[in-house]
Amino acid sequence: EDRLTAGARQEEDGAEGSLRPQTLSDFIGQKPLRENLHVFIGAARQRAEAMDHVLLFGPPGLGKTTLAQIVSRELGVGFRATSGPILQRAGDLAAILTNLQPRDVLFVDEIHRLQPAIEETLYPAMEDYCLDLIIGEGPAARTVRIDLPPFTLVGATTRAGLLTQPLRDRFGIPLRLQFYEVEELLLIVRRGAEKLGFALTEDGALEIAKRSRGTPRVAGRLLRRIRDFALVSGRAADRPMVDGALLRLEVDALGLDAQDRRYLRRIAEHHNGGPVGVETLAAALAESRDTLEEVVEPFLIQEGLVLRTPRGRMLGEPGWRHLGLMPPSSVAA
Ligand code: ADP
Repeated sequence: EDRLTAGARQEEDGAEGSLRPQTLSDFIGQKPLRENLHVFIGAARQRAEAMDHVLLFGPPGLGKTTLAQIVSRELGVGFRATSGPILQRAGDLAAILTNLQPRDVLFVDEIHRLQPAIEETLYPAMEDYCLDLIIGEGPAARTVRIDLPPFTLVGATTRAGLLTQPLRDRFGIPLRLQFYEVEELLLIVRRGAEKLGFALTEDGALEIAKRSRGTPRVAGRLLRRIRDFALVSGRAADRPMVDGALLRLEVDALGLDAQDRRYLRRIAEHHNGGPVGVETLAAALAESRDTLEEVVEPFLIQEGLVLRTPRGRMLGEPGWRHLGLMPPSSVAA
């Protein structure tokens, strides 16, 4: 499904490479995380050792892939990337690991979706830089141990809790990404407009920043659309042009799109504000539960539009207000 404001990667985002910051100092926001990484990268460089394994977790589009690339560049080592669902057999992983150069960064996106057998291959690789491979079948099968070059695994996942405990335990550096502040997104938007080479006024930039769902990937996507409007009109993109473009794109004042509003309205109109179970919502909206929990809900929850309770999702007071509806008196109180 094509969702302009979903953080998840889409086809066109292949072009987003051009907007990627290249160094840690270029990377805007996530200050505590950046400061931590700066120290660990410096220490690994001084010791001339592979840096400890890093687990990056947070909603899609916040910069996990970008950070993994920056880590390898700042360490001055090679970068290899794969993802949990791509790796089908233990041999796929073995082929990648045995081809690494010493201290390389191996990025594994969606690491919570590794097959169990592959995950188990990863344990000794992460811990002792070795692989136990089974050669042959049946009674003739035997295990051979292969030494690997020391390397840094950078794993990315939407929530740390999706990982098995043994896998989580093997990451020395777990780092959580947060949604971005409007001021941070404003910097990202300004820089993006410069890179894309079009004129954007200050109030236009601020409006995009406010309506990017706290997510740099969304900011980049809105920027590219607004560049089109600016190009066709032959004028600088100012606040009225941005407002007009976002209205046509059905992105509302909070940056929510049609799917977000459908989700909120479902809880309001069919469940009187909830609580309602996430499975029920997923079925009604024809979405997977994972998409709701990992892509749709995190921002709505952070903004207080939706509350996660033990009995299910509830519409928060700001959620009612955003829909232009009156909350039942119990919520307003
Ligand atoms: P993730 O791997 O978390 O889904 P990405 O690293 O692919 O997210 O980032 C998505 C897009 O947002 C990329 O175009 C990237 O350049 C941009 N981006 C992410 N974080 C930042 C940041 N801190 N500053 C500027 N651009 C960013």
